[in-house]
Amino acid sequence: MSHETKALFIIFGATGDLAHRKLYPAIYELYKKGYLSKSFAVIGTARREWSDDYFQEVVRDSIADGIESEEHAKEFSTHFRYQSHNVKDTAHYVTLKKLADELDEEYGLEGNRIFYLSMSPSFFGTITSHLKAQSLATDEGFNRVVIEKPFGTDFESSKELNDEINSSFAEDQLYRIDHYLGKEMVQNILALRFSNPLLENSWNKETIANFQVTLSEDLGVEERGEYYDKSGALRDMVQNHVLQVVGMLTMNRPDSFTPEDVRREKLAIIESLKTPVVTQDETTDFVRGQYSDSSDQKVKAYRNEDKVDPESLTETFVAGQITIDTDEWRDVPVYVRTGKRMAEKLSRIDIVFKETTSDLFNDSPSTLTIFINPDQGVELVINNKKIGPGMDLEPMTLASLRSKETLKNSPEAYEKLILDVLNGDETHFAHWGEVAESWKYVDQIRQTWDSFEDHIPFYPALSVGPAEANQLLERNGHHWVYTAE
Ligand code: NAD
Repeated sequence: MSHETKALFIIFGATGDLAHRKLYPAIYELYKKGYLSKSFAVIGTARREWSDDYFQEVVRDSIADGIESEEHAKEFSTHFRYQSHNVKDTAHYVTLKKLADELDEEYGLEGNRIFYLSMSPSFFGTITSHLKAQSLATDEGFNRVVIEKPFGTDFESSKELNDEINSSFAEDQLYRIDHYLGKEMVQNILALRFSNPLLENSWNKETIANFQVTLSEDLGVEERGEYYDKSGALRDMVQNHVLQVVGMLTMNRPDSFTPEDVRREKLAIIESLKTPVVTQDETTDFVRGQYSDSSDQKVKAYRNEDKVDPESLTETFVAGQITIDTDEWRDVPVYVRTGKRMAEKLSRIDIVFKETTSDLFNDSPSTLTIFINPDQGVELVINNKKIGPGMDLEPMTLASLRSKETLKNSPEAYEKLILDVLNGDETHFAHWGEVAESWKYVDQIRQTWDSFEDHIPFYPALSVGPAEANQLLERNGHHWVYTAE
């Protein structure tokens, strides 16, 4: 039996998409594995009027794919209660506290509480101040607040939000979700880099030519047009996931895996990002694009998506050259790109090594690829002698991809992150310092883009993005390793 933590989860936004798709299945996995057992309870809150029975049915429906047995699922769902709740209504917090105290008593939860804010961030401040004012935060156990993205829309708004939350909860009680940090292969970056002297000793400007981070989605904006049209790829993906991955790739070796040590090193990278050049010509470090319809016209253009302005200039794709302004990394470009309606759904990192400096061989650069999603694994491509006379070379691929079976049994990001919250481990959550510095970085790009004429380059849906993304690398004599062909 795994170590069980006693806790009451209070989920705000319990009828929402995220709760249904990710949170209930993750909590069920923790239950299956014994991290949660008899001593846990969940209160779901949202605007709708649901009964406990109906809520439990919804929860069972959300976990249906992975259940051990109907009986096991039923037993799990009896730990769930529902309270209709308007986050602005003080009286609702009083009722909520009463229910929380009852469940605490019933399940012996020792005052441990996890407040999961799975709602629009515009409510975060209201909720946290009520949690404090109506004494939902307990004195005896732990009180942890889990916060979903987006954490603000720029530095100013994120600071305002942070100050508002901080007036009720301290930084060490806050768990800002960046689900990329919960991914096995993103965490694995640190293991690969620092447990293999072979890689650790090559991870420097002498050996690495450039880094390439690709986080691409094949879907469009789906039902999230209203949110996305105000956000765009830069805010939605670069400020958080992309910069966090860049931090993991380039940070110095931490002294330990404590949150303090890991975050300190990651923050040092984000703080040292060089101000990007943002222009409308080839000198620019960042380019953007928006998907038009696909070449076979089966997939509609972004501007025709539901709840999107038909003249929208919002970017659904961003590519950039990031420079880390330290002696170690200044000369090693970090290329990043992310977009919707790309050719494939995948996240990967390609590390391109330098060619040999001697004339002995006509060699190609070696590459190391870290596959994050949906494949997980590592691939190294190095030079190898071609069989036969002479010393001609050909590429040799050494690859290890995790099997379907392994992937099926490995925990999802949300499961890992919720377990971390239960254990009080903040290592894989975004600290305010990182969030603040990341916003300052992307704000510079956003502000310049907003000052441009009404123009955005288009790329056909289901492609690798606009041609400008290739020119970014070509100007340095580089090219994208992954081209979707
Ligand atoms: P959603 O719109 O599906 O659900 C929102 C929830 O908030 C619903 O339960 C709704 O009833 C509740 N709500 C809204 N106004 C309320 C009010 N005044 N009082 C009480 N309850 C109210 O949203 P979602 O997709 O589940 O996303 C939740 C959060 O997670 C958001 O911050 C979102 O940005 C973030 N997020 C979602 C996803 C995703 O894949 N869905 C991914 C990453 C981050």
